[in-house]
Amino acid sequence: MEMICRTKKLTPALNHSVPPPPTTHVVAYKRWNNADSMDIWLPTYAKLIDSVRNQPPENIVNMPVSCFITSSGGWDWSKIDPYVSTDVHNSIAAILPTINDRRSVSWSKIWKWPVHERIRSFIWLIAHGKILTNSHRLHRKLTDNAMCPRCGREEETALHALRDCDSVADLWMRFLNPQRWNAFFSLDLCEWIEWNRRVHVGNDISENWQTTFGVAVWHIWKNRNLIVFENHIPNMHDLFFQILYMVKDTLLCKETMGNMISKSSKAFRMIGWKPPDREKVKCNVDGSVFESTNTAGCGGVVRDASGNFIFSFGHRLGSCDIIWAELNGILDGLELLWCKGFRSVTLECDSEEALELIKNGTADNHPCSGLVHCIRDCINRCWNVDLQHVYREANRAADLMAKLSLFIPEGLQSFDAPHAELWSILSSGLSSLLLPHLCVC
Ligand SMILES: [Zn+2]
Repeated sequence: MEMICRTKKLTPALNHSVPPPPTTHVVAYKRWNNADSMDIWLPTYAKLIDSVRNQPPENIVNMPVSCFITSSGGWDWSKIDPYVSTDVHNSIAAILPTINDRRSVSWSKIWKWPVHERIRSFIWLIAHGKILTNSHRLHRKLTDNAMCPRCGREEETALHALRDCDSVADLWMRFLNPQRWNAFFSLDLCEWIEWNRRVHVGNDISENWQTTFGVAVWHIWKNRNLIVFENHIPNMHDLFFQILYMVKDTLLCKETMGNMISKSSKAFRMIGWKPPDREKVKCNVDGSVFESTNTAGCGGVVRDASGNFIFSFGHRLGSCDIIWAELNGILDGLELLWCKGFRSVTLECDSEEALELIKNGTADNHPCSGLVHCIRDCINRCWNVDLQHVYREANRAADLMAKLSLFIPEGLQSFDAPHAELWSILSSGLSSLLLPHLCVC
């Protein structure tokens, strides 16, 4: 049974392999002299500047990664090779260039996508040009054939594999409102993902477009991998129904969860900062993102069982998502507590998502996997660490430090005396001031 009249698409497939390099982007934490071990170019080198063969000029050292990418998405070796050894060259060649500009879809938008966590990670990889299509594999010298394994006629870029290959385009048209075909098949990679996140472009069978889109790209890529790695013969009709069933399952699961929450009652609870047990210290941490300046920071405050200030910290991070800032706050707090000799600590954070990632771990391709791995390693040292969630009303001191981090020099800074702005929050902690919070019971 053919449910939809199949018509040739209006716009021919455009050959957009990878978004062009950004023109205005500044990634402060991804430069050659970057000292933050979380965001280095290469996992094996602490700072790229320490591994150079010839000292590059200052302007090269201060260029973000995006300036070293060619228009086709590969490394621009003419700018890199004059300064690095063959070993460093090979290490850089083994990783994909990071494409991260203002147009790219940030994780803070993707993590709310109504699909399974593994599909969210996959969408993030697509948006950052990191899925291993044959075109990318050719750049990395993993293959000598960049052609599409489905049609064998065109280079397999991300957009060709996920949207433009003829049989895949026909599949999409079964889910799309025909009036949207033109736009759907003409956008470049980042615009395409952002547009599908924002706009409902589905027909009658696609009740939730975000879910349908996420599930479809995931299945299209899985199906492509079956062709490549298991010589599977593609059957687009089966794929259509697999997508349909998974969308229905995802929406049903979401609806059930929604019903459970709406049946629970809501009530105001009075929330305030609570001191730790007598033998412990408590560190509150938080992250902040400042949309206007495209920068982020994190910070924290450590107090004892009597509510006395011990130290505070702030870390201006440059451009990143809120979840990244929250996780950085947790890692900074733990590392500082460890370095200062505390061995029995409670760390409080108001990001349930960050705590979930730490508790459950992440897949290797998750954008936060490196940070989460460092945090879990740190927790597993020989000390007593409790990680707890608090409502933001009990986390105001850390929130203030995260906001103040914007105005301190870049990098992690620790303070032995509280900032003037912190005094009123510290004294309200001492006097157990409570604030109302609407809770689901
Ligand atoms: Zn193809």
